[in-house]
Amino acid sequence: MSSKRDYYEVLGVDKNASQQEIKKAYRKVAMKYHPDRNPNDKDAEERFKEAAEAYEVLSDEQKKARYDRFGHAGMGGMGGGGFSNAEDIFSQFGDIFGDIFGGGRGGGGFGGFGGGGGRGRTVRRGSNLRVRVKLTMEEIANGAHKKIKVKKLVPADGVQYTTCTNCNGTGQVRRVQSTFLGQMQTVSPCGRCGGTGQMVGQKPPGADENGLIRKEEIVEIDIPAGVEEGLQLSVRGKGNAGPMNGPAGDLIILIEEQPHEHFERRGQDIIYNLPIAFADAALGTMVEVPTLEKNVKIKIPAGTQPGKIFRLRDKGLPAINSYNKGDLLVAVNVFVPKKISDRERELLEELRTAKSFHPGEAEKKDKGFFDRMRDVFGS
Ligand SMILES: [Zn+2]
Repeated sequence: MSSKRDYYEVLGVDKNASQQEIKKAYRKVAMKYHPDRNPNDKDAEERFKEAAEAYEVLSDEQKKARYDRFGHAGMGGMGGGGFSNAEDIFSQFGDIFGDIFGGGRGGGGFGGFGGGGGRGRTVRRGSNLRVRVKLTMEEIANGAHKKIKVKKLVPADGVQYTTCTNCNGTGQVRRVQSTFLGQMQTVSPCGRCGGTGQMVGQKPPGADENGLIRKEEIVEIDIPAGVEEGLQLSVRGKGNAGPMNGPAGDLIILIEEQPHEHFERRGQDIIYNLPIAFADAALGTMVEVPTLEKNVKIKIPAGTQPGKIFRLRDKGLPAINSYNKGDLLVAVNVFVPKKISDRERELLEELRTAKSFHPGEAEKKDKGFFDRMRDVFGS
């Protein structure tokens, strides 16, 4: 807000300027930055809006007095809040332009902003529809084509639209007011049709006031590989139908991950917990581990320590919009039996006394275990 330019500066007038001078200055600035003269020029458009906002305030004695005292901070809730589009500006100050650009566009009638259907008619977009989609880790890895059942608003069979009788289909109602600037025409959206220019004539039972009805439909969507829990994807135009033939809203898909029977996800990496027997850790072995595609064999070298991570490159998840893949981290866990037979006990008692089965000073100082844990669980 503090970056807002001073209204007097915007119009290039000083604080003691008369209303005549302010009006004249506004015309000058507005003409210079008029969208018709600066097509597709964002900067000009901003200047144009800025000038309209300044004029809205400075042309109103009350607002001007407040602005003079408090600056921009004083304008909250009193107008001067800005114009979101050129259309609003023409609606409000149209008559000022009328005599600049001549008869063809008199009375605030500027072309080129309303689209083909005539200026000022509002097109109402359908609302967005939200669905949750549960994906397995395999689907996240490969991308998925899903058929989703949704209940969405569609035009009811047999609904008929008619021209709004209040605004004759223009979507706007005009009023002429007397102001200190003279006759001022204000244009506002038609209240009866919401500015669309159309009303529902006949509608079948069950249809809402816009002639729409909720219907179950199967929507097919492609979900790219690499999505994650909580991500929202929007599919344009697959949401609820728009009232009066307006464009449909979007379908917003909320991604939910289903837990995997083998893997935990950490970003693009996936973690597999591999418990192995003590003897296998000590002597070494080959074990089979699952991946998202097929099982693979990995070598457990003799002397493998608990918490050891074997990193299988590119066996993790892809990133969305990238060829990078995460890894599969195989975290070794040495299994300690809870129940043992008498014979096993005998063997273990024998091993207990064996010298090489006891950690020495070097092992006690080794922080490798924590490093390995950090590898998996992050710092
Ligand atoms: Zn209307």
